[in-house]
Amino acid sequence: MNLKKYINDIPDFPKEGVVFKDICPLLASPKATDYAVDLLAKGLHDINVTKIVGIESRGFLFGLALAQKMGVSFVPIRKPGKLPGAILQQKYALEYGEDCIEIQEEAIQPGDYVVVHDDVLATGGTAAAACKLVEQCGATVVQCNFLMELGFLDGRSKLKQYHLHSLMHY
Ligand code: 5GP
Repeated sequence: MNLKKYINDIPDFPKEGVVFKDICPLLASPKATDYAVDLLAKGLHDINVTKIVGIESRGFLFGLALAQKMGVSFVPIRKPGKLPGAILQQKYALEYGEDCIEIQEEAIQPGDYVVVHDDVLATGGTAAAACKLVEQCGATVVQCNFLMELGFLDGRSKLKQYHLHSLMHY
C-alpha cells in the first residue's frame, strides 16, 4: 500500500509559502490507518518499549493506536496549561520566538524505554524537546517515529543521538 496516496498537499497553509501535509485522508481510511500502525509497530520489532509518548495534537492519533497495538501505556505531551498536576516543561526555539511543551511528572519513570511519536518530523525542534522531557524523567528514548519526514527541513540533524523511523519521506 502506498501511504503517500493518503496525504494531501495543501499550498499556503497555515501561512503563505508553506505546503502543509494533510493527514486527514489517511485518518479517513480504516485500512490505511491500520497499515500505518502495523508499520510503526514493525519498526519496533525486537526493541524493548514500555511507553509511547505522543505529541499534541496529531501525535495523539497514531501514538495511542500504536500503544494499544503494543500493549503499552500512552503518555501525552501537551502545550502549556493543558495537563493537570505536577508537570515538567521544555522550551524550544521556533523560526520566530519560542514554544513550550509539557508532560506530567509522574507519567514516565526512570527505567522506562520510551518511543516518541509525532505525525510529522519537520525542523525537529518539537521532537527534540519531547526527547528532553522524557530524559528529564530519567527514562531512555529508544526510538522517535513519525508518519512522515520532511527531509528538506533536516529535522534529523537535531535528533542525531536517537534512532529514527519514518514511514514516508519527502
Ligand atoms: P518541527 O518542530 O519538526 O518543525 O514541527 C513538527 C510539528 O509541526 C509536528 O507536531 C507536526 O504536527 C507539525 N507540522 C509541521 N509541518 C507539518 C505539516 O506539513 N503537516 C502536518 N500535519 N503537521 C506539520
